[in-house]
Amino acid sequence: MNHKAVFLDRDGTLNIDPGYLGDPDKVKLFPGVAKGIAELKKNGYKIIVISNQSGITRGLITEEQVKAVNERINSILGEENNTSIDAFYYCPYHPEFDDDEKVKCRKPNPDMVLRAAEENGINLKDSFFFGDTTGDIECGKNAGCETIFVSNGSNKNELIKLHNKNIFPTFEAQNFLNACEFVLNFSGDK
Ligand SMILES: [Mg+2]
Repeated sequence: MNHKAVFLDRDGTLNIDPGYLGDPDKVKLFPGVAKGIAELKKNGYKIIVISNQSGITRGLITEEQVKAVNERINSILGEENNTSIDAFYYCPYHPEFDDDEKVKCRKPNPDMVLRAAEENGINLKDSFFFGDTTGDIECGKNAGCETIFVSNGSNKNELIKLHNKNIFPTFEAQNFLNACEFVLNFSGDK
């Protein structure tokens, strides 16, 4: 358990979120994502995506489409900065359609992060969770990670919701690259 990681939400954090993204040709990464990931990896962070994909249980997209989108993300990262996501985890379930046992994987529960940590030898205390919604920050905190709220230009209400719940991320970043810079400068007692 001696690796450190940056866990990333996918839609709205890495890529523009059109809602239930199933077409790899529609993948559009935010500016600075490829550069930021490359820098984090150079500094020893594993990069792991943690994503709710209830579009699968809703019948709107298939697992194959989710995987094709993930592959497309990695091919863009490869083209832009010769980098890649190390692993992708997603939860296909939703409480409207699935039983409690299945739904446990959904953020804000920490289950996917805990599984990823076990499977990849990651120390969660040295790790970060980046996301664009309240559920992401709650998930990161539930897993025992530092958390970074990433502004994407259209999620200000998510930050207001967090503050109203009296939940504060470790850092509120202006954009993805700003979040990466914070991680690389993070000192504290680690
Ligand atoms: Mg998101």
